[in-house]
Amino acid sequence: RFISLEGGEGVGKSSNIAFIVDWLTDAGIPFIQTREPGGTPLAEEVRELLLRPRDEGMTELSELLLVFAARAQHLHTKIEPALAAGTWVLCDRFTDATFAYQGYGRGLSRDTIEQLQQMVQGARRPDLTLLLDAPVEVGMARAGERGELDRFEQEQHSFFERVRAGYLALAEADPQRFSIIDASQPLADVQRDIGQVLQRFVDG
Ligand code: C5P
Repeated sequence: RFISLEGGEGVGKSSNIAFIVDWLTDAGIPFIQTREPGGTPLAEEVRELLLRPRDEGMTELSELLLVFAARAQHLHTKIEPALAAGTWVLCDRFTDATFAYQGYGRGLSRDTIEQLQQMVQGARRPDLTLLLDAPVEVGMARAGERGELDRFEQEQHSFFERVRAGYLALAEADPQRFSIIDASQPLADVQRDIGQVLQRFVDG
């Protein structure tokens, strides 16, 4: 089974992925942990291209194609083989991030992204997507504490508002797959909620 974790900047993805790793380990579930953009040596190189601030700028379409180039490599060399072997996959971001950031954030059309999604993934989707949601101010304050900003983190406040609204719209459109977690709560409460969702997923 395929689990993805999504959310905007500073919503606590790293701490919570560590919690999920511990949870799955304790449950005795064989799984791999991976991330996007990245997850394989080539895809991690593409990630560096995407994140590095540059004077030249990057067109929206170049960005989208790089995200999907990394995803094609990641999916075909790592995710699909793991799932085929019965190993669960826990992925820090997947295609919902593309709809949220490149779609709602950058303004690329849903149709364009769906075409690439079809080409690269066919029918492959996560079985469960945990969306960590918090007001943009909360996330930005936390992200700011981490120091140097990557190319995305330098965006305007309005960009992150669109990303957040985009994620919530995606979740609303697919409530079967998504669970929205209130990430503005204290970490212990966030983790209690995630644990409950995982327990239901494993039982169901
Ligand atoms: O998940 P993480 O925060 O490490 O992602 C690295 C950066 O890449 C983030 O700033 C995120 O906003 C950005 N990103 C993006 N589009 C994607 C995936 C990630 O802009 N499809």
